[in-house]
Amino acid sequence: MDQNDLARIVREVLARLEKEMDPARGGKCPHGFADVDEAVEASVSAQATWHRDFNIEAKSKIIGGLRKDLLDHLEELARLALEDTGMGRLDDKVLKKELAITKTPGPEYFTTKAVSGDNGLVLEELAPFGVIASITPSTNPVASVINNTIAMIAGGNAVVFAPHPGARRSTLRAVEVINESLARQGAPCGLVATLTAISMENVDKLMRHPKVRLVAATGGPGVVHAALSSGKPAIGAGPGNPPVVVDETAHLRQAAIDVILGCSFDNNLPCTSEKELIAVNCIADELKKHMLENGAHELKAASEIKRLRELVFDDKGKPNKGCIGKDATWLLKQIDVVVPAKTRVLLIECDEEDPFVQEEMLMPVLPMVRVADFAEALAMALRVEHGFRHSAAIHSTNIDNMSLMARLMETTIFTKNAPSYASLGYGGDCPTAFTIATSTGQGPTTPLSFCRLRRCTLHGAFRII
Ligand code: NAD
Repeated sequence: MDQNDLARIVREVLARLEKEMDPARGGKCPHGFADVDEAVEASVSAQATWHRDFNIEAKSKIIGGLRKDLLDHLEELARLALEDTGMGRLDDKVLKKELAITKTPGPEYFTTKAVSGDNGLVLEELAPFGVIASITPSTNPVASVINNTIAMIAGGNAVVFAPHPGARRSTLRAVEVINESLARQGAPCGLVATLTAISMENVDKLMRHPKVRLVAATGGPGVVHAALSSGKPAIGAGPGNPPVVVDETAHLRQAAIDVILGCSFDNNLPCTSEKELIAVNCIADELKKHMLENGAHELKAASEIKRLRELVFDDKGKPNKGCIGKDATWLLKQIDVVVPAKTRVLLIECDEEDPFVQEEMLMPVLPMVRVADFAEALAMALRVEHGFRHSAAIHSTNIDNMSLMARLMETTIFTKNAPSYASLGYGGDCPTAFTIATSTGQGPTTPLSFCRLRRCTLHGAFRII
């Protein structure tokens, strides 16, 4: 190597370093931090700049660019989430990410409330909290990151993610893709950060960090409880056990198809998916016939059901983690039952007390319980939902039944005559949310959920009538 070669290499290295330090020139931002304090500090400074120097138009443009860039990584991120967690279905993972990218509302979602009177004008607007700690689940890691990122930064916030240990690789890659896009577009570094050293201790430290202003916990009861105990305002998006009722007035073939599609969506991982079917007895046989023609396989033999129980429950009677989000065909293969590859759901008739009904299984095993009439169905649906007030569904053409169930269930999401994912925006005219705040009441989250209300009063002026 002569002097010229050496000089060329030095020039190239310097140019690359310069580019990497300058996000506006397509370089990378530091965004993964082992240290909680460093992650929060980076986000505090980014949030101040994002809120102060980027107006609505600039924010909208960058979020638009982010959506476009994420769409280019759809397949890669879906594949990675599947490989990383070993849970779910590739086609549905692609769809979930596409929904999060295209149907999470942006800055346009905000409106100002103005009230004028004899005393002048009062404005009320939603303003950012600041830095948000977002704890994400293993069952929906990448789509949650995309959904929360767009909604949180649309509201002027920054976010530090705490990935689930079982979904570390895919979560970190999603945050990296987001940062590549944000950096190229000149957004401040640290706006979307993530912890790389994942432990309960670090999650706890993040939630309690003095400069974290809001905690969004998406997961099981443990993390929601931890978030609510953090001393911070919290969004608790906890577990569910959604019942679906089919009454004697339903369009049975369509109801059967919808239940199969909703229950098997990403192998039942979404907290909103149909987890137990309650069917009025006089239509149960016909409903079942349609389900068997449309992707369900019924397990009837006592010996097979026994083997399935041994497979899918652990020794504490809880769902076996190794079976969560697995294909119906995979579950059946483990107990030596071979079915056509198109089988999406495993149907088992049982009674209300069965753990298949009582537990949030998160796998495409659908228990079906028969009841005498709608009143009994509704009473049972209320019991098996366990008061989570999360999600429920009905297939019916009886307006009174639909209205009564919607009112009494008090669930955050209630779906009528469609697969449950219609309420996530797929085949439904609503924005997409993958953080569905149940106990804390924000509901399916939007950018508004991550903001706080501020009021400004101008005395004696600006009334135009
Ligand atoms: P999980 O509760 O095991 O983990 C969620 C996250 O919380 C992880 O990052 C984990 O490390 C952390 N965590 C768990 N317990 C904690 C504690 N005590 N203190 C601090 N951190 C803690 O969730 P999972 O098994 O990956 O996800 C499945 C659950 O999440 C299901 O119950 C499902 O219904 C629920 N979920 C709810 C929503 C919603 O929007 N309501 C969305 C997705 C999943």
